[in-house]
Amino acid sequence: MYLTMSFHYLRRHHQQLRRVFRRTTSNMTSSETKIITRFAPSPTGFLHIGGARTALFSWAFARKNRGLFMLRIEDTDRERSTDDAIQAILDGLDWLDLTPDAPPVYQHQNIERHREIIDQMLAKGLAYKCTCTKEALDKMREKAKAEGKPIRYDGTCRNKESVPDDLPFTVRFKAPQEGSTVLGDLVQGEVSIENNQLDDLILLRSDGTPTYNLSVVVDDHDMGITHVIRGDDHLTNAVRQSQIFDALSWSRPAYAHIPLIHGADGAKLSKRHGALGVEAYKNMGFLPEAMRNYLARLGWSHGDDELFSTADLINWFDIAAIGKSPARLDMEKMQATNIHHIQHGDEDVLADYVMEKLSLSPENKTKLMTALPMIKKTAKSLDNLVDNLRFLFLTRPVKLNDKALESLTDDKIANVRKVFLALQNLDAWDADGIANFFGKFMEENNLKLGQLGPVMRNILTATGSPLGIFDLLLLLGKEESLARLEDILAN
Ligand code: GLU
Repeated sequence: MYLTMSFHYLRRHHQQLRRVFRRTTSNMTSSETKIITRFAPSPTGFLHIGGARTALFSWAFARKNRGLFMLRIEDTDRERSTDDAIQAILDGLDWLDLTPDAPPVYQHQNIERHREIIDQMLAKGLAYKCTCTKEALDKMREKAKAEGKPIRYDGTCRNKESVPDDLPFTVRFKAPQEGSTVLGDLVQGEVSIENNQLDDLILLRSDGTPTYNLSVVVDDHDMGITHVIRGDDHLTNAVRQSQIFDALSWSRPAYAHIPLIHGADGAKLSKRHGALGVEAYKNMGFLPEAMRNYLARLGWSHGDDELFSTADLINWFDIAAIGKSPARLDMEKMQATNIHHIQHGDEDVLADYVMEKLSLSPENKTKLMTALPMIKKTAKSLDNLVDNLRFLFLTRPVKLNDKALESLTDDKIANVRKVFLALQNLDAWDADGIANFFGKFMEENNLKLGQLGPVMRNILTATGSPLGIFDLLLLLGKEESLARLEDILAN
């Protein structure tokens, strides 16, 4: 609902929310802390399949625990962030029905708050100003390289009492130098890094913009995030972020770093493997329900269950069941999942899709709903479902293609005429009635269904159909069926 709100409203609303989060979370005792997860994409491109999975896991975990799922648009890189990308993320989540529980937080609007924390860190001696020039840093890097040492800031400004006021500066985190930082990751297990492996991270650039790691820590804290679920490419960041949380005496969120998705060949996922925007899958005819099902299986499992509903996913979702090795994207499996969900899909949802695709007016809905239970079982994709339903809504006279017309030989037409005349006397136009009629008709006329079925199917549907002739007659109804046959016979 809020997706339609203006950005202006969102901005104002967001400040308010932040206060609510702080209040809500600080008033809670640990036993009643509500689980709050977030999806924090950078709006520099479309919502790709990996991002969608991260969002799904964060959403499912929140839903399962009756917690909250938040969206934070990490748009601090003003050059690379675009409105189109933001819209693609909102649309993608909307289509997948991964609805955040509050309006999105736009990270760049928190910049003053980020700076405020950096100032506090400076005042408390948790951070320091660094006036090292680019040249000095380049030299440092070259020296380390030449000596075969890891490239790290050497701490030149760390111990200075003060730095000159008139020089440009960055602010660096006074990172712990001894001991190690340990992270109990819910997926990766214990991750430990010796503190002497990490240098003093820049918190504020010389142009006055806070850096990613600082902004994420402040926002995760302010939003009361209890669980950070994201790709394992952020594992090192998590160690850095934990150090900042600790320095500020803020409690860290729990971390769950999920292995990135790979292609079917085991290589890191790229466009070549089908790593497209969520939008592309929508256009390919995937159902959101099927996407949720398939994406959930990319890295998470519940026994041997491959096909399940979103309700099952929420019931079953558990971080402990996320695997440590990268899942592989398998288009065939994804298609199979989609077919399952179409064939078992909610008819109202399918009907909406078909109505839109075929531009049907509302009075056609009843006819569509009658046909859907039978036709959805034959569908191989959403497009195929639409194609298989098209015949119901053709306007008479139905136009046959040349091939179908050529196949109408005289003896076939003669048979169709016979059956057309006989069908006029059939009153019991239902499944049994039609089957009985044909049983008798074939016998009396010494015909096989193969001699009559295909030609009638052509005439009735023009486009062909996976359905048998009895079903077609049933779905079209007596009047329409006879009229379509008569149109051909009259010519
Ligand atoms: N904005 C980061 C990204 O898109 C994610 C940050 C996070 O989840 O902490 O990769």
